[in-house]
Amino acid sequence: MKYVSTRGKAPVLDFDDVLLAGLARDGGLYLPQSWPTFSAAEIRAMRGLSYAELAARIMRPFVEGCFSDAELSRLTAESYSAFTHPAVAPLKQLGHNQWVMELFHGPTLAFKDYALQLVGRLFDHVLKKKGRKVTIVGATSGDTGSAAIEACRDRAAVDIVILHPRGRVSEVQRRQMTTVLSSNVRNVAVDGTFDDCQDLVKVLFNDEAFRDEMNLSAVNSINWARVMAQIVYYFAAGVALGAPDVPMSFSVPTGNFGNVFAGYAAKLMGLPIDRLIVGSNTNDILTRFFEGGVMKTDGVVPTLSPSMDIQVSSNFERLMYLSLGGDGAAVDKLMNDFRQNGAMVMPQGAWTTMREVFEAYRLDDEETLAAMRALKRSTGETLDPHSAIGVAAGLKGHSRKDTSMVALATAHPAKFPDAVEKATGVRPGLPPHMADLFQRPERLDAMANDAAALKDYVRTFANRPKV
Ligand SMILES: *Cc1c(COP(=O)(O)O)cnc(C)c1O
Repeated sequence: MKYVSTRGKAPVLDFDDVLLAGLARDGGLYLPQSWPTFSAAEIRAMRGLSYAELAARIMRPFVEGCFSDAELSRLTAESYSAFTHPAVAPLKQLGHNQWVMELFHGPTLAFKDYALQLVGRLFDHVLKKKGRKVTIVGATSGDTGSAAIEACRDRAAVDIVILHPRGRVSEVQRRQMTTVLSSNVRNVAVDGTFDDCQDLVKVLFNDEAFRDEMNLSAVNSINWARVMAQIVYYFAAGVALGAPDVPMSFSVPTGNFGNVFAGYAAKLMGLPIDRLIVGSNTNDILTRFFEGGVMKTDGVVPTLSPSMDIQVSSNFERLMYLSLGGDGAAVDKLMNDFRQNGAMVMPQGAWTTMREVFEAYRLDDEETLAAMRALKRSTGETLDPHSAIGVAAGLKGHSRKDTSMVALATAHPAKFPDAVEKATGVRPGLPPHMADLFQRPERLDAMANDAAALKDYVRTFANRPKV
């Protein structure tokens, strides 16, 4: 499989180079040159496969030429073996044709594990084959950092440094990162905000000499391999609910648009998806876009669902490219408008195409708490704030009650205990494999908001004597 950039000006690459590159050189995101599709008979034949087997089946066409079937099957088996639910991504019924898919049974209790556990292994495998090493540097406001650290710990070809704003991530989130004591992992608490952390990372990546010297790399959500791995659970839910013979819809609490875009990819590949519902919190740039066709930034306010507190949804560019018929120059122009003016107007035809599949709903914090309370009362299920937004948005969009609606639960309630306690009166406990999180020793380094100091730190770490 070959991959093209959404801006049309970067070289066409193979899967392994797309994996390591992340962002394309023209500023665009990579997409497969053509979409593999599964026939009705092939989808029917997916019934009964384990999650790891299904993952290999779905991803095989995307990695063709870079991974053998045996290698891919081994990596998916390894990736999902440490998940704590035997179904990996279990479905629970909430009501008539109402389902929730729990995507929080991975090592860090958020759906990001489903992609990153595999991506860490893909990285290690490709790097070893090429005889290369990388230093991953990233900033986190919470969930991504811990999932990336868990995915990269103890991998020989990868060093990883994650920055977080000191005192501004929850204690569970901090401890999930700082209690990983592997020698290839470092956590840096920066005196500043999440934006300061991101700016520091950008300074390092924009210094070409430093980037090359350190082989800097990223595993952020624009990496195609993360989207690819997320397509799998849409098929898992679909096949369990009767695909290809009955259609279904999905509702997804959305930030960077990576998760819900994977649903769109599943539809392109033959899964009979009717609607994709985007759930947002008060930071509703996407909801406003799907209502009116104009993407316009509007500042970020903190909410009870911090992983969706976003200004710009970077993966949206992929949907734009496809809805504009693969016109990279048009994407380039719109993205430039957006960068310069904080706004872009989608051509009517592209917007109409998107609206045939997507709808969007917003919930503020009060509505989120009310949704958590109502769910607990009516079904007994305790959901975290992000997942509750997914379920509630799905209910608002569930106009065709004859079609199953699957809401994706993106985090375990114990990751957001304060909000859950506020809504339900019960403080959720950590699952058994993490019960001692607050007793484990931590390691973290403090740093001023200073790019020169960070460069020295990364260089010293990457060049440390290795045993
Ligand atoms: C990252 C995250 C999201 C947003 O997912 P996107 O792919 O960025 O849209 C939603 N919920 C939780 C719990 C997350 O960690």
